[in-house]
Amino acid sequence: MNDNQLMNDSQLLREYVRMSKTVGNRADYVQGGGGNTSVKLSAGCMAVKASGFRLNQIEPDAAYVVVDAKAIREWYARVDLGEDRDFEKESVIAAKGAVVQGYGPQGLRPSVEAGFHAVLGNFVIHTHAVQANLLCCSTEGRDLMAKLFTNAGFPALWVPYINPGFCLTLKIKAGREAMQLATGADPHIIFMENHGLIVWGDDADTALQLHEEVNSRILNYYKLTEPYPAPSVKPVEGVDVTGMVGSISAAAPLLMSATPLVQAFLKENKVDVDFFERYPLYPDQLVYLNSGMIGEPASLKVFPDAEGGSVRYHAGESEALAMEETLLGYVWVMKTIRRVGLTLKTMSPADVDFIHNWESEAYRRSLVQKMVK
Ligand SMILES: [Zn+2]
Repeated sequence: MNDNQLMNDSQLLREYVRMSKTVGNRADYVQGGGGNTSVKLSAGCMAVKASGFRLNQIEPDAAYVVVDAKAIREWYARVDLGEDRDFEKESVIAAKGAVVQGYGPQGLRPSVEAGFHAVLGNFVIHTHAVQANLLCCSTEGRDLMAKLFTNAGFPALWVPYINPGFCLTLKIKAGREAMQLATGADPHIIFMENHGLIVWGDDADTALQLHEEVNSRILNYYKLTEPYPAPSVKPVEGVDVTGMVGSISAAAPLLMSATPLVQAFLKENKVDVDFFERYPLYPDQLVYLNSGMIGEPASLKVFPDAEGGSVRYHAGESEALAMEETLLGYVWVMKTIRRVGLTLKTMSPADVDFIHNWESEAYRRSLVQKMVK
């Protein structure tokens, strides 16, 4: 890489940091470690959020990795679904193998969603915006998207629910190409059913403005003017926790949900563990909330208390807050879908199984085989 390219890249990276922080500081756009962003650099490279970081932790020297996006695209172009291979696992290995050594922060893993970033435009923003998720988590969402966006001059693509990672990248790539072929328009907005939103633009501001426009259009359509609540947690005081579910793992600090909207919803709906299992809305809910409620008692972190209208967390403050953000997003989407008269669309049991068994190779193979048919 020559000096000019490096100078150009450092300017692009500054814009990338600004874009990531702008969306990353909004709890209505991303919750906990959710969402990811990327920018295309010179020589076919791409900076993409590193796995395990929050979007607003991205700095010129932190929380992203530089990958060879061209190599990732070539890998996807070579995929032959007719072969019985663990493409899910191989796609992760391909993304790791594409990390450019000695450039950008070192020793980090690219986001599992690096695949679709590689096949999209220059500045890509993927969030779990609660506004977009009103459409993504309702049966009317697809038609609403056509009405509010595609037919209003904002070509948008709808991607029916598909497992994150390898399969999602393939569907996004194929969906975009099919839309270009059929309509001549290149969609810069993607609604992913039971998941979230992707937008992109040629520069950071275009991408940011489009992201803002999409979400405010949905709010305006439903005349939702109340500000989005700030998520908060507080220490559990004056409560005897001995004997309560999870008290045996009470070595960690004990915090509880303190966001009024969340407390009211939990109480009205008598929300317990079963409620979360009955209404799985998107993968992040399963990863950050449900997995903290189910399993070995010693590893539990999230304790809904149906009677008390509360959720307690066995976690440090930042982790508890990340879970509260996820919970608030979930509650807001569910409550607002009901309020505006939409029909909730949950993930199917098979979709939920995939998320829980993501680590299992045999399971992933069987699913890719199904995709061929
Ligand atoms: Zn996502």
